[in-house]
Amino acid sequence: MKNLFGIDMLKFGLLGKKLGHSLSPFIHTLLFDASGITAEYKLYQTDDVTEFWQNADLDGFNVTIPYKVDIYNLCSDVHSSAANIGAVNCVDSRRVGYNTDVYGYTKSVAEVCDDFGAKVLLLGCGGAGSMVAKQYEGKNLVIAVRNATASKISSISKEFGGATVCDISQIPLQKYRLLCNATPVGMAGFEQKSPVGDDVICCADAVYDLIYNPQKTPLLSAAERLGKRCKNGLDMLVYQAAKSHKIWYGGEFEGSDIAEIIRLSAKELDKSC
Ligand code: NAP
Repeated sequence: MKNLFGIDMLKFGLLGKKLGHSLSPFIHTLLFDASGITAEYKLYQTDDVTEFWQNADLDGFNVTIPYKVDIYNLCSDVHSSAANIGAVNCVDSRRVGYNTDVYGYTKSVAEVCDDFGAKVLLLGCGGAGSMVAKQYEGKNLVIAVRNATASKISSISKEFGGATVCDISQIPLQKYRLLCNATPVGMAGFEQKSPVGDDVICCADAVYDLIYNPQKTPLLSAAERLGKRCKNGLDMLVYQAAKSHKIWYGGEFEGSDIAEIIRLSAKELDKSC
């Protein structure tokens, strides 16, 4: 496909089931502009992931809920970044799968806690929570889930190197270097409350919420009130997007470009609130 000037237009996009107000086209368009690349980034919302896989004619794409594991299983090959996680969020033109969420998370969270051997309390263990759990030492990790039955506790603990697993209503009140929220509680469209009370938040030195919409969740408001270092997941979203550009066409970005894209994304989110 060519653009108005006869230059080949690269085609990328985001695959998901419900993409309503995704910020991804906004972020990726800024990244293409910063690279001087002529490309489009469209949303591909579908209920049939196999049909998409067979018919999509793209130079690369990202994957979001609930298809990261399906695409992992469909890929011709998976890069080590995805093999460790068992989920793919970025596919290149050869249909090789990658996981750029790991890069996005580790780079983003390092601003509030850069010790991946530290005592960490993780809330939730779905797609993103599992990725987060794999970044930490199992013996120092406490994972809080809802409806924690004995078999759920045992299987999650086994999967994450002997992590302590508990019900979210019975979190051990001990010192944590980091409290990380990987549940959707507090996200736009979900219950607007903190997933844990002040008694738990008080135990942590720093609080990280993967949610970026709203930018200040009830959890982050409480953490700020209690004087904790805290951060949302907006720059994680931008970092994982930038890493996709590196994979797709070798795109590299100056720190100042990324900082500007994070600033503009925050402004764009404010507009939609
Ligand atoms: P997911 O796969 O659906 O997992 C959600 C987890 O939260 C599950 O463990 C779920 O438990 C738990 N949960 C759901 N509702 C809960 C509640 N009311 N109380 C306690 N636990 C609850 O979702 P995900 O993909 O991991 O995403 C989680 C969050 O991270 C979302 O807010 C998403 O927007 C955010 N995220 C951000 C980025 C970023 O770039 N910043 C990237 C990925 C995800 P059950 O298993 O019992 O349902």
